[in-house]
Amino acid sequence: MSRKIGIVGSGLIGRSWAMLFAGVGYQVVIYDIEAKQIESALVDIEQQLKSLEKNGLLRGKLNSSQQFACIKGTNKLEEAVRDAVLVQECVPENLELKRKVWKGVDDIAGPSTIFSSSTSTFLPSLFSDHLKNKKNIVVSHPVNPPYYVPLVEIIPAPWTDPAVAKKTRAIMEEIGQTPVSLSKEVPGFVVNRLQYALLNETWNLVADGVLDVKDIDKVMSDGLGMRYAFLGPLETTHLNAEGFVDYCDKYANTIYSVSKDFKPLQKWEGPQVGEIAKQLENMVPKDKLQERRNWRDLALTKLSQLKKSL
Ligand code: NAD
Repeated sequence: MSRKIGIVGSGLIGRSWAMLFAGVGYQVVIYDIEAKQIESALVDIEQQLKSLEKNGLLRGKLNSSQQFACIKGTNKLEEAVRDAVLVQECVPENLELKRKVWKGVDDIAGPSTIFSSSTSTFLPSLFSDHLKNKKNIVVSHPVNPPYYVPLVEIIPAPWTDPAVAKKTRAIMEEIGQTPVSLSKEVPGFVVNRLQYALLNETWNLVADGVLDVKDIDKVMSDGLGMRYAFLGPLETTHLNAEGFVDYCDKYANTIYSVSKDFKPLQKWEGPQVGEIAKQLENMVPKDKLQERRNWRDLALTKLSQLKKSL
């Protein structure tokens, strides 16, 4: 069986995928439309792998030089796609571009190559209806930064062969990610549906003056999020009573009556955008965003080490 992976688009997400696939010895070929992006991706990947190894954080089964030796760049789409077991598309979030890129891949690929898109927002049916191998399309949606946060949502189009979604899941497990398989495409997939439910309520609570930005974020980072890093919301309910049925007996009325108090859906526009931005920039000035991202990545690494040790 082929051990080749094609990566199309060598930005932030393409680089992470390349490192994850190389970690277990896949031969990874990265293609990008910009030659200098490929060069900088290879330099960046080598540096990242070395630094992860130095700090004891390297994933996968091989050392950093062995992993890097598995990754090559090309400026020919064909070299990334031909005979690949899976092509991971990581081009910018633009529907027309995704349709065009997949058509280019489809013209070259054989019938058994999996077509896997990293899109955060587009349903797979929107960019695969015109492909001859459309039964091979899935979305494999990672969470940023994928090297540190293992979840991947796998989403089929209505015409995706179930065996393709199943094989994609197995590959994601093999590289050490945590796949969940949606039975069908739904707008926002699941990660963003849950995230938006939470974001909508934070917007409304700030609008109502109940908490300021700093404190509402603490409710997650020092409250609910502490649990949710280990247990999902449903298992949390199961443990917070004598099982889920008891939880429903005790709390169903409360959940219903509090939820009826939720404000109608608001669009994120108007003066509150500036107000929230001002408070966030007091917490993290814009010239300190990268510093804070580095701290986030370190914290996520330590969390994943803790989770593995439990
Ligand atoms: P990016 O802008 O960092 O990288 C995109 C790369 O694609 C660039 O190197 C660009 O040169 C290249 N590219 C553009 N047109 C191309 C073409 N026709 N052929 C080949 N390469 C081309 O973008 P990113 O943040 O890595 O996002 C990539 C995808 O991953 C998007 O669909 C995005 O929604 C998804 N995603 C992003 C995140 C995130 O937080 N950044 C998280 C999950 C999913």
